[in-house]
Amino acid sequence: MDEKIITRYEKKNQRLFQLIYKIKLWPARSGILHGVKNIESRGNKAVVTTHCGISFVVWDSKNCRSLRWLRNSYYKKPCPKCKIPGWKIDKYSKTGFK
Ligand SMILES: [Zn+2]
Repeated sequence: MDEKIITRYEKKNQRLFQLIYKIKLWPARSGILHGVKNIESRGNKAVVTTHCGISFVVWDSKNCRSLRWLRNSYYKKPCPKCKIPGWKIDKYSKTGFK
């Protein structure tokens, strides 16, 4: 595949890893919003570590639950252990990555 086409495609469809890397937040399936301490990309998957010490593997996908939630700024409540600063949650709620 042409490299230029790939680059353009990725810009148009922000990938999951890039989003997490940018906003450093992770809405868990339970609806709890965690702060991301570290994200380590390993090909088409990445190991995400939260501030409260949870580590998990996420697969890079253009259409998955977490990506939809990130784009829609969805979460139920912030994680009490991660102590995400208010401005960050504010930014997350208002920005909306559309
Ligand atoms: Zn947490």
